[in-house]
Amino acid sequence: MAVEITTDLSTVRNIGIMAHIDAGKTTTTERILFYTGISYKIGEVHEGAATMDWMEQEQERGITITSAATTCWWKNHQINIIDTPGHVDFTVEVERSLRVLDGAVAVFDGVAGVEPQSMTVWRQANKYNVPRMCFVNKLDRTGADFYRVVETIVSKLNATPLVLQLPIGAEGDFIGVVDLVEMNAKVWRGETKQGEDYVVEEIPADLADKAAEYREKLVETLAEGDDETMEVYLEEGDVFDVPTLKAAIRRATLAGNLNPILTGTAFKNKGVQPLLDAVIDYLPSPLDVESIIGHSPKDETVEIARQPSADEPLAALAFKIATDPHLGKLIFVRVYSGKLEAGSTVLNASNGKKERIGKVYQMHANKREEIAAVGAGQIVAVMGLKETKTGHTLADPQNPVVLESMTFPAPVIEVA
Ligand code: GDP
Repeated sequence: MAVEITTDLSTVRNIGIMAHIDAGKTTTTERILFYTGISYKIGEVHEGAATMDWMEQEQERGITITSAATTCWWKNHQINIIDTPGHVDFTVEVERSLRVLDGAVAVFDGVAGVEPQSMTVWRQANKYNVPRMCFVNKLDRTGADFYRVVETIVSKLNATPLVLQLPIGAEGDFIGVVDLVEMNAKVWRGETKQGEDYVVEEIPADLADKAAEYREKLVETLAEGDDETMEVYLEEGDVFDVPTLKAAIRRATLAGNLNPILTGTAFKNKGVQPLLDAVIDYLPSPLDVESIIGHSPKDETVEIARQPSADEPLAALAFKIATDPHLGKLIFVRVYSGKLEAGSTVLNASNGKKERIGKVYQMHANKREEIAAVGAGQIVAVMGLKETKTGHTLADPQNPVVLESMTFPAPVIEVA
């Protein structure tokens, strides 16, 4: 049985994908799971697989988002995708999911731009200081206008967008993006089939001026959001190499000073791989967020801080209860500190009851994996908890902490 004690938490990303209903959250998530599935199982992809039609793939591998949290891998990083409901009716659920993720990708419809529900979720994410990137999706649609959507991100969300890509071609002729960090073009040639990678080319001649203009804007915006960049920029101009620029974008994004913007069409499989790269490059790891603060179960006025390390006493937050058709009741938890071990006894510090941890699962796109123990930074599903509800803290009985007391009700959701 796997033991998932990730000691290098810098390689973990706990992210949510948030969107107005219909903007493409499901499609984007499915494509992420598809591409990460390929990269994870790269040795197993036989020749025909990469050109197989998406629907066939989907049926064959059963890729759907069936879980409140799904774990996948991309370029030696573990990405846990936490489901963030798109309906405003689920505001409470959105808030709850925002508490357990470290960063988010906001997906916008390339035609509709920023819609009312996106504004609601965006504000909620502001409240929890969640660093965010944007993905302007559906660029293949008639009437899609990347630049207009960027404008609405400013006017309606009051955000500071950092445009990292420009679209190449429009609507049905949208073929790829200009990468303003690497100053090249990433183009999906031919009929894009699932699994197809992009080709790196020179920036098309007719976009050269625009790319230069937006590169300048990128560096200026970045300088305003990052002092280190500003100092160099004022002295020497745009002398930034790719790693320096990426590090600066990461700093400014984590500080909440700006929001990197990427684009593409999830449905037509253009733009998803660069989006995954950006998740790794620019969104926080569990180490980048402040240590979690709770209080003593005996005295609410006594604050306790826990570092994101497996060596600390256990502190984990139950954030969702789900019913799985095969496993029954599952409780999704985020482990903030310490280790959560199958078969161990922990204290539910919120109600004072001892609980035995049954089986622990990491949920994947098309399977679930039983795990003996997980460490800080991880998100897993736990079986066997009897008295634990959404919002409760599971803690080390010797060193208990209550992470927070969420007051809203805990609905049981069905997992398909
Ligand atoms: P969600 O409600 O945000 O989860 O949106 P879905 O992913 O279910 O997408 C809503 C609809 O838009 C579906 O019919 C998708 O097939 C379609 N869709 C998603 N992404 C794209 C895209 O990039 N281009 C086009 N043309 N349609 C898309």
